[in-house]
Amino acid sequence: MPEVPGPSRAATLMVSSPGELAAASREDVRRARAAAAELAARGGRRRDEADLELYDAAFGLLADAGARASLCRSVHPSEEMRAAAEACEQEVEAAHAELSLDPALYRALGEVDVAGADPATRWLVERGLRDFRRSGVDRDPATRERVRALREELVRLGQAFGRAIKDDVRTVRLEPSELEGLPEDWRRARPPGEDGRVAVTTDPTDYQPALTYSRSASVRERLWRAYRTRAHPANTEVLAGILGRRAELARLLGYPSWAAYATEDKMIGSDVAAADFVERVSKAAEARMRLDCEELLAFKRRDLPGATRVDPWDAAYYSERVKAERYGAEAQAVRPYLEYAAVRDGLLALTGRLFGIEYRRVAGAPAWHPDVEAFDVLGAGERLGRIWLDMHPRPGKYKHFAQFTLVNGQRDRKVPEGVLVCNFPRPGAEPALLEHGDVKTFLHELGHLLHHVLGGRTRWGTQAGVATEWDFVEAPSQLLEEWVWNEEALGGFARHHRTGEPVPGELLRRLRAADEFGKGLQVRQQMFYAAVSLELHRRDPAGLDAGRLADELYERYTPFRAVEGTHFLESFGHLDGYSALYYTYMWSLAIAKDLFGVFEREGLFSPAAIRYRREVLEPGGSARADELVRAFLGRAHGFEAFARWLNAA
Ligand SMILES: [Zn+2]
Repeated sequence: MPEVPGPSRAATLMVSSPGELAAASREDVRRARAAAAELAARGGRRRDEADLELYDAAFGLLADAGARASLCRSVHPSEEMRAAAEACEQEVEAAHAELSLDPALYRALGEVDVAGADPATRWLVERGLRDFRRSGVDRDPATRERVRALREELVRLGQAFGRAIKDDVRTVRLEPSELEGLPEDWRRARPPGEDGRVAVTTDPTDYQPALTYSRSASVRERLWRAYRTRAHPANTEVLAGILGRRAELARLLGYPSWAAYATEDKMIGSDVAAADFVERVSKAAEARMRLDCEELLAFKRRDLPGATRVDPWDAAYYSERVKAERYGAEAQAVRPYLEYAAVRDGLLALTGRLFGIEYRRVAGAPAWHPDVEAFDVLGAGERLGRIWLDMHPRPGKYKHFAQFTLVNGQRDRKVPEGVLVCNFPRPGAEPALLEHGDVKTFLHELGHLLHHVLGGRTRWGTQAGVATEWDFVEAPSQLLEEWVWNEEALGGFARHHRTGEPVPGELLRRLRAADEFGKGLQVRQQMFYAAVSLELHRRDPAGLDAGRLADELYERYTPFRAVEGTHFLESFGHLDGYSALYYTYMWSLAIAKDLFGVFEREGLFSPAAIRYRREVLEPGGSARADELVRAFLGRAHGFEAFARWLNAA
C-alpha cells in the first residue's frame, strides 16, 4: 500500500490565512501568465507539443486556482477567508478572460501541427481553438475589451447571487403541537426555545422533512413561502444584472441570445434543440402528471372534503400518504436503517466494490471544519486521489448538495482531490437518520466525485475529470443513483441503528414500487426548471419581467398556481452555475437510463462497472461525451430506455 502523503498545497491553503490564500492565488495567476507569455514568444519556428504543454499549464493553473477559490468561498467557516476567496476568484477570472482574448495565444495554438497526434491531443487543440473563438479572440479590440469587462462583472454578480442565497436562512417559529407527523427523533433534536416555540429553518435538514411529514397545511405553506422568499429582495437587481450582461455578451459574440451561445458547444448543440427536448419530455409526462394530481387531490379531500385543487406545499406530503397507503411504503419506516455514518461507510464500500477501488481514511488531515473528513482513494496499490466529505449544514455554508473540485488531476503530475458538500443531518445526541432520498443524493454526488477522481489521470490537465460537455456531467451521477434500489447494495450497511437488523427486503421492494408514483409530477417540475432557465436566457432582457415569466412557465408546466408574494428565481442557485442549461439533468438522465440498461442485462455487480470506469469515467474530457458513451454501449445513445422508464407503470 502506498504511504499516506502529506496534505497538498491546495488543502493546506484551505486552512491558511486570507493573506496566504491570496498570495498563493496570485502566484498561480503569475505562473499561468508566464506560461502563456512563453507560448506566445516561441513563435517563428515549427511548433510542437512543448507548446501544448504551455497552453495546458496556463489554463490548468487558472482552473485549479479558480476551483480552490470557489470551494473556499462556498464552505469556509471564516467570513474573512470567504471574502478573500471571492477576491481570488475575481482575479483568476480576470486572468482567464485576458488569456482567452489574447490573439497571440490563439495563433500559437493554431500553429501546432497535430495531424499525427493521438485523438486526445487533437481534441485538446480543436476544443481549445473553438473556446478561443467563443471567447471573442478574433473580434476587434474594442469588442474584446467590452467582453473582458462583462466577464469580470458576471463573476462578481454570480458571487453576490450565491452569497445572498446561502446567507439568507429563514426561520419559522412553530408551536410544538404544529409538528405532528414529523419523526420523533427529528422533534427531539429540536426542543422548543424560551418562547415555547420550535425554530424550523429553510435549511434542507429542517425544510425537507417538514414539507414531507408535517400534517399541518399551514405549517407547510408558511415554510414553503419562506423558502421561496430567500435572497429576496437582495437578488432582484443582481439577477437582472446577470441576465442583461449575459445577453449583451452573447450579442457581442454574434449570437442571438445567451441560450444560443451556451448550448452551442454542448451535446444538444442549440437552444432550439434544448427547447424541443423540454417540450418532448413535457408532452411525454403530461398524462401521467394529470393522474398523479388527481390521486393527490383524492387524498387531500379526505382531510378537506371541499378541496378543489392541490397546492404546491401539499405535493410532497400527499405523495408520501399515497405511497404509504397504496404501496405500504412509508418513508419514515426506512429511516432507522439509514444512520449517517453507516450510510457513509456503506456507500464507500459499495462504490469500492463496483469500481475496484478502496478508500482509506486520512487521520489528522487538515480540514477547514471539524465536520470534514478525508479519505484516500486507492486502486491496484496506487493512490488515485483524495476525497473530502463536508456533509452537514452550518451557517455561511453552501445550502445545496454538490461536488466541488479542490485539485484537478493530471497523470504523473497532480493527484486529483474533490469535495462533497452536502447538508445531511449531523450525528449528535440523536442519531442522524437519513431519508432514502438522501442516500440517493449521496450516491449522486459520489458519482460526480468518482468521475473527478477516476478521470483524473489524463495526459492533459485541462481534460481531467468532469471536463466533458456540460450536459453529460449528470449522467454518471444519475447512473449511480440506480443502486439505491438494490437489496444487495443496501443490505450490507442499511441496518437498524438500535437493533442492527438489516433493512427488510420487502420494505425496499415496496419503496421501489412506490417510487413510480409521482413521476409525472416530478418530471414536469424538472421541465419547469429547465424551461425557466432556458427562456430567461432566450428573451431580450430589456423590459423582461423575469418573475412574471417564471410564474407563466410554472403554471404551464406544473399543475399548480403561481403564488403571489414568492420569489423563487432569486434563490434558484442553478441560474448562476447552470445559466440556461438546467435541461442538462433530464438530458443526462436519458443517457444514464441507456447506460443502466447494460447493468440490467449484465448484472449490477458484474464487470460492466469496470468497463464503464475505463470507457466513460477514466477518459474524463479527453474525448467528446457521445464517443465515450458509444464506446461503452457499442452504439449511439437513444431516447428509448428513458421513454420506457417514463412510462413504466
Ligand atoms: Zn449532479
